[in-house]
Amino acid sequence: MSNSNAQLIYAAAVITMNDAGDIFTPGFIRVKGALITEVGAGHPAATDGEAVHDFADDILLPSFVNTHHHLASSLIQGAEPKHKMAVGTVRDGAWLKMSVGLDREECEAGSSLGYLQLLESGITTTTDSQSTWKGLSKLDGSITAAVKSGLRVIFCAAFVNKTELVPADYQLTVSESVGELARLRSTYQNERVTIEPEPLSLPRVTDELVLALHKERNQLMAMHLTYSEEFDQWARKEYGYPAVVHLEKLGVLDEKSLLAHPVHFDDEEVSLLKKSGASAAYCAVSNMHMGLAIPDLRRYSDQGIPVGLGLDHPNGSHDFFETMKTTVLTQRSLNRDQESFTPLRALEMATRDGAKALKLFDQIGSLEVGKKADLLVIDGNAPELQPPAGLISQVVMAAKAKCVKHVAMDGKWHLFNYKHQGMNPQEIFASARDIQKRLLESAGIYNGVRGAR
Ligand SMILES: [Zn+2]
Repeated sequence: MSNSNAQLIYAAAVITMNDAGDIFTPGFIRVKGALITEVGAGHPAATDGEAVHDFADDILLPSFVNTHHHLASSLIQGAEPKHKMAVGTVRDGAWLKMSVGLDREECEAGSSLGYLQLLESGITTTTDSQSTWKGLSKLDGSITAAVKSGLRVIFCAAFVNKTELVPADYQLTVSESVGELARLRSTYQNERVTIEPEPLSLPRVTDELVLALHKERNQLMAMHLTYSEEFDQWARKEYGYPAVVHLEKLGVLDEKSLLAHPVHFDDEEVSLLKKSGASAAYCAVSNMHMGLAIPDLRRYSDQGIPVGLGLDHPNGSHDFFETMKTTVLTQRSLNRDQESFTPLRALEMATRDGAKALKLFDQIGSLEVGKKADLLVIDGNAPELQPPAGLISQVVMAAKAKCVKHVAMDGKWHLFNYKHQGMNPQEIFASARDIQKRLLESAGIYNGVRGAR
């Protein structure tokens, strides 16, 4: 495998996800450095110095954009959380220690495992949300993993200053929060990893903190919003109106707002999202994992509100194909209508809409000249894709993460022929195993080789 500066890539099908919805069978794409220079149909001859990749049986599409996650929690993937998603805190001591009390080393190990699996699922751009704890260096661990991963990461440094979720001694003041954000940016930010503020969620922050962090945002400000009926009732009681109305009145709802897994928005809130240009992340599997409701996504798409897909924690998996398929299934079931949501809509949310939600659609999210060569190649010979028919529906409804054969970002192959070109899986697995065992033991719930439950 060559990483020549100029590449000509052939594929049995090229799904561009551009505005026109062009699909070329067969098709090709030319890449120079990090950027796409040509996309089209057929099999043109290579020019001198061009490295040729002939993916003659395979499907090429833009790599995926994951708009929401808590990657350090990958350390406990597959474990069943005992708490529910509540406005207050109902975690038992052991799970508080497990899922929230991770230290720097644990955050790095968990996040590294997450990045490995994101890449194997065809994701090259992701957000990661991690809460700060005063005196602990959790975010340093999480961001170190982001930098080492080589992927494109918008890291959301999450702050709280009025919640039992983080014990009072570990909470930062407003000015300490702003200072910590500046420290993280000056220490770690580079051309791939950017750091943005996240007032974690309204019940856990003061308005003063929201306003201070809003002033510090560059590309976006993330926030968890109205994920449950309890949250909605809390907001109406606390403010006298719904949560989105409160953000609007505060003056912080705008085109740089990214709202994490909201479910319960009334019509006024949806109109405010449209008016402000705000976007959202929908996390189908995680929402259902926590027993939360399913929003009708047509309420957003009908208004042109960008909503991307997210994995989120808990999820139990990093298979973005599972999230796409689950999105289709839940929308159809919710609407009691098979035609109410298509596989193409899910693929749009996983690529171009996710890029729009992260304000990156001018650079990624579709295969077009001048955009970054962020590429996902699905193995056309995988058993799941036999016999070859119904291209988009096969990708969304039949393919799995295990069908992901090659992945490139900025024209550089990070996964080639199923092999990692940058990350070291053995090291990452060994570290995750050791640290998870230690964490379970110290939390008092280690119960043998296969864990507690
Ligand atoms: Zn979340």
